[in-house]
This record gives sequence, C-alpha cells and structure tokens, in this order.
Amino acid sequence: MELSVVIPSYNEEESLPHLLEWIASVVGKEGLEYEVIIVDDGSSDGSWNVIQNLVATYPGVVKGVKFRRNYGKSAALNVGFQRAKGDVVITMDADLQDSPDEIPELVRMIRDEKYDMVSGWKKVRHDPLSKTIPSKLFNSVTRYISGIKLHDFNCGLKAYNVEVVKTIEVYGEMHRYIPLLAKEAGFYRIGEKVVTHYERKYGVSKFGIERTIKGFLDLLSVSFMGKFGKRPMHLFGGLGTLMFFFGLLSAMWLGGKKLWYVYNGLTMTMLTNTPHFYLALTCMILGTQLFLAGFLAELVTRNAPDRNNYLIKSEIGIES
Ligand code: UDP
Ligand code: MG
Repeated sequence: MELSVVIPSYNEEESLPHLLEWIASVVGKEGLEYEVIIVDDGSSDGSWNVIQNLVATYPGVVKGVKFRRNYGKSAALNVGFQRAKGDVVITMDADLQDSPDEIPELVRMIRDEKYDMVSGWKKVRHDPLSKTIPSKLFNSVTRYISGIKLHDFNCGLKAYNVEVVKTIEVYGEMHRYIPLLAKEAGFYRIGEKVVTHYERKYGVSKFGIERTIKGFLDLLSVSFMGKFGKRPMHLFGGLGTLMFFFGLLSAMWLGGKKLWYVYNGLTMTMLTNTPHFYLALTCMILGTQLFLAGFLAELVTRNAPDRNNYLIKSEIGIES
C-alpha cells in the first residue's frame, strides 16, 4: 500500500462524506494505492453510521475504528498509526479545514525528497483571534525549546514516512508535539509545507482556550522526558547539589562571620534575625530534597520496562 490517510474524528458527521469525496477525487487522479482510516473518537452524533456508509461506498479504501468513549485526538491518532499500512502516512482533521489537495505534494516530499515527516503550515489561517494569538506564542516557545524550526506545530495536516508513526507513541495530548517526539526518536529530517486552510463549515471546534495551558505543561513534559527521561538524577542531582552547596557556603560564611565578631568582642545581630540565615537554610533543605527526588526517579526509571529499548535503524553482519 502506498498511502494511508488517518483521520481523527469527533462529532463530525456532516463533514465526513464531503471529505471522503474530496480525498477520493484527488488521490484517484494520482492513481495511488491508498486507504483512509477514520478513527471515531467516541462521537455522540451519527458519525458511526456515516462511517459505515462510507465503508460500503468505498470498499477496501475506507476503514473505521470506533472508541467506546471520547479519549482525545492523540489517542485517535495513535490507534490510526497502529493500523496504518501505507508507506506514506498522512493525517488530517475531519472538519474540512485541511485540504486534501495538499496530499500529492506531501506524498512527493516524503517519497522523493526523503523527508521523515512534513508538517503543514496554516500560513493564512481562518480561525478566531482567540485561537491564532495564543497559537503564535505557543509556536515560538515550542520552536525555542525544541530547536525545530516549524511555524505551526499543531497543524492537523502532516505527512510521515511510515517508520516514524510506527516508532513514536502519541499519548495524552501529545499530538501537539509530534515533531518533537519524532526528533527525540532520531528522525531529524523534518520539513514544512505551506497549506491551505479553510473555515470550519459544519460542527464546532473541540478545543478551547485551556489548550494553551495544557499545551505548555505538555511541552515541559516532552522536553524533560526527551532529555532526562532515562537519567533523571542528572537534572535533580545537578540542581540539588547546586542549591545545597549554595546554602552550605552561605551558612558557613554567616557562621564564620559570627565567630569572628564574637572572637573580637564585637556585637552582631543574632543570626536567626537575619533573612540571609533562613535563605541559606532553605537552600540546603531544598537541595537535599531535590537530591532525594533524583534518587527516587532513578529507582523508578530502573524499573521501567523500556529502560533498555533503543531505536535501532539497521544492523549488519550479526547472526541471530
Ligand atoms: N478531535 C478528536 N477528538 C477530540 C477532539 C478533536 O478526534 O477529542 C478531532 C476533530 O474531530 C478534528 C480534529 O481532531 O478532526 C481537530 O479538532 P478541531 O477541528 O476541533 O480543532 P481546531 O481546528 O479547532 O484546532
Ligand atoms: Mg478544526
């Protein structure tokens, strides 16, 4: 199979038939051997009926998975990725905001230009300001932290070499950080393509303003896991040592000063009356706590079943 299109869908019954018609006409013209996997994320409208009809209308092309309840876009993508059989995998939203006209060029970029993944960039975007402004901020922070030069991390329209989607694991709400997950898995050839974006015609958006906060917390998790997931002590221990010695040196300096004053018969305010003393104490306590957190984290990672899972690209001359 040459192409898999994965579509996470939550209450998008009106859009799905139009979307499928559009995809079929574009991909049909290209003559690609393809499948469309629609993952119904526990919709409460008539989506599943619509999907059943689509499977009948496009036999062998449309495939459907329905969750028992709503798990979120990441879960839907994850299951779609597991089922995908194509050499190129493309994801797009079900709401007709992403254009199937982009498919041929995306396929070409993955196939011929050998990109691991190509992310869409909704350069001209048809969404309310309450969405576009936080999105700009989100993207620049993510660019800075991840070091990946993309303009639109959260674009639903993306293309992958199948190896990428079989390697990474999208969970929680990590669909916003797939490029980062890919990079951490060693897929460095990440490209970008400006894509057409349309206004939502049917249904309502499934994400509100709270996505900014969740997104930021997830960014911290992803970058922490990527850097220190397998060696947490290097972060906690490093910070802990730094704080502890900062506190210790401050306390020693204060103690020394006090002794020197006492020795010379001078008067000095009691140490317990100075803020400096408490700061030194707090630093030492926090430093110790961080260190202990580091040891606990090491115990946890030592027991993680994937502690020795490495992503092997190829092997040669090894007999099994
Ligand atoms: N979606 C999903 N599960 C959810 C929320 C959204 O599968 O819990 C799908 C939704 O049906 C759509 C895509 O994810 O196909 C993007 O959602 P939406 O269009 O609401 O996001 P926006 O375009 O507003 O960022
Ligand atoms: Mg949308």
